[in-house]
Amino acid sequence: MRGEIAVKEAWHGKPYYSVDAFFKNTYGEKIYKIAVDAGLTCPNRDGTIDSRGCSFCSAGGSGDFAVRMYEELSDTSVYGRQYDPEQIRSGNCGHRPRAVTVSLQIAQGIARFNKKVGERFVIYFQAYTNTYGDPAYLREIWTNALDNPQVVGISIATRPDCLPEEILDLLDELNKTYSAQNKFIWVELGLQTMHERTAEEIRRGYALPVYEQALESLYTIDIATITHIILGLPGETREDMLATVRYVGEKLTKKDPHPGTGVKLQLLHILEGTDLAKDYRAGKVAVLSMEEYFSLLKESLKVLPDNLVIHRLTGDGPKKILIAPEWSGNKRMVMNSLAKYLK
Ligand code: SF4
Repeated sequence: MRGEIAVKEAWHGKPYYSVDAFFKNTYGEKIYKIAVDAGLTCPNRDGTIDSRGCSFCSAGGSGDFAVRMYEELSDTSVYGRQYDPEQIRSGNCGHRPRAVTVSLQIAQGIARFNKKVGERFVIYFQAYTNTYGDPAYLREIWTNALDNPQVVGISIATRPDCLPEEILDLLDELNKTYSAQNKFIWVELGLQTMHERTAEEIRRGYALPVYEQALESLYTIDIATITHIILGLPGETREDMLATVRYVGEKLTKKDPHPGTGVKLQLLHILEGTDLAKDYRAGKVAVLSMEEYFSLLKESLKVLPDNLVIHRLTGDGPKKILIAPEWSGNKRMVMNSLAKYLK
């Protein structure tokens, strides 16, 4: 345990093991993340479990920062071929339209970053549920991303109840192939809370043992997992939230964790168009102050085992649809204040 938060050399000056430090230690340089939208859906939105989605989830399916679909892409060349958006839309480009779209997003994301900074990237399949689709299509988009010489790995955001045998076999096969090239596959699981009553309230749509089973299955095929936790969920006390953090820390380190295993801590954002927004406006839901959130983060870092990677400490509420907390909209201020606070 961290106890008194120690600044370790391997942590590159931060009082916790950040994903930046992990990448520097592993690849010797900063690795940038490109979030993409693979055009998938989610069983909590398509009616399989529910059609309303989790109560906090915006219409973008938690992928509001993903590179936009082809309508907004200016460079439509992929692997040396030029496509016009109409070709892609109609499927007359020789590839399935959505797969081309993902490749375009990656090409565009890399082009944007390259101008300023990085050389190597991780592709984050962010929007909606990224193992919930035709396995042939998933194989295509994951393989395309991993084959890019500038990509060191992919991170796949999903739900623990969307990892059937066929998908686990595919992940296993690709993980074996690409780890031989020093590339990784991570899977991100949206747990949010360990408390069943909150899970019901936010309409998460699966029970806690499903998460534990998913961790086990992914561990068995040597895939590192990143668990998402939201701090500030309706009805939860500080102790409830820290209990979730502690629980996740214990589950992720029950066996020696695979490199990259860790957590994403996220402040609850009230976003326009969500059911939570209605409750917030009706005065039924409160949000955390910056001081409360920072204090929770500090405690969370103390209870999480040292060998877990902290992939995120804040999370961005997309400004255009952010209702509350307002302070979280000023990301630069939040990050600077947090750095001072943790030091
Ligand atoms: S599982 Fe994810 S994508 Fe689906 S509704 Fe919940 S937060 Fe949104």
